[in-house]
Amino acid sequence: MNLLRDLSALEEYVPGRGVDEVAREHGLDPDDLAKLASNENPLGPPPAAEEAIHEAAEGVNVYPTALHNDVRDEVAEALDAPAENVVLGPGADGVFDTVGRAVLEDGDGVLTPEPGFSYYGMSARNLGGYESSYPLRDGDGFEYDAERIVDTYDGEKVVYITAPNNPTGTDTTLETVERVADGVEGIVFVDEAYWEFSDRPTAVPLALERDDVAVARTFSKAYGLAGLRVGYGVLPDKLASAYRKVVTPFCVGSVSLYAARGALGDDEHRRETIELARWGRDYMSEELEPPTYESHGNFVLADVSPMDAGEVAAELERRGVIVRDTTSFGLPSCIRVSVGTRDETRRAVEEINYVYEEGTA
Ligand code: PMP
Repeated sequence: MNLLRDLSALEEYVPGRGVDEVAREHGLDPDDLAKLASNENPLGPPPAAEEAIHEAAEGVNVYPTALHNDVRDEVAEALDAPAENVVLGPGADGVFDTVGRAVLEDGDGVLTPEPGFSYYGMSARNLGGYESSYPLRDGDGFEYDAERIVDTYDGEKVVYITAPNNPTGTDTTLETVERVADGVEGIVFVDEAYWEFSDRPTAVPLALERDDVAVARTFSKAYGLAGLRVGYGVLPDKLASAYRKVVTPFCVGSVSLYAARGALGDDEHRRETIELARWGRDYMSEELEPPTYESHGNFVLADVSPMDAGEVAAELERRGVIVRDTTSFGLPSCIRVSVGTRDETRRAVEEINYVYEEGTA
């Protein structure tokens, strides 16, 4: 008997390279590396979350029953949304999976931006579905165009709009979201993982007003808790109750929940994080020699052509700066550089300019 499903169409997720693996490979001290490959929070966790994590330790022998709902209620209050419409998940990724479980049947599709975040398609395929993509690229930039998305639409159950988008930094408008929702039959799932860094009003009110728009958010970026895996969704009524039927029991651990509560209350850390991201993306777009795309996130996409992104990233690693080679996003001549601390960001710019000038001279 074949115990495994046929997984030949599936691939493993490719994360940004970690400090320890790069340090070991090149014989470098991990403390000397600037890790700018995964859009993490360069300021570390919010102090209030760190404190909450220590306090949470003594209670980890019990399931987080009331705690889960309490934190969900606090998230809902912060969003000004009814608690019934808010769901928590193990990262935004976990929210995509669980919404997928509620929505997708064998052979159903999701429509995703190209270039874009790979997990939407992975999650759909894991559930027996398929992924098709709509192109963001039109001419020189990567813009969301409602008409292009609607024209590409072919009956998929979920249409993802990532705003700001990873890896391009492109944002959208609420008008675009509404026009797409009006033009397709599926659910428009707005991934606001990087929303805190943008100036755009949130799509949360659309998820509360309409039955065909949903929003995902995360504690991994602006809130500095990537290692704890906490995300949330704001879903229309029916989707929210379907979510509760298919979600894994206690899908977010108690330490993570306490930390999320701490992070929610730490406005100072979040404000500094956002300010730093905005400074860093402006600094990089002004100071980098290779052309960059306008970013609304905590990272910048730079075009190092005619150089090969893999080679540029490898050389930068040897020089102690880890960036994301975006070949796996279909952009083999671009690198994505996360905003680090001010020192890390300045150092990254210096090293990138050096490698780029050497390679293009
Ligand atoms: N959405 C986008 C666009 C992302 O780039 C990422 C992570 N890099 C996620 C979602 C995943 O977030 P989480 O850590 O909450 O699973």
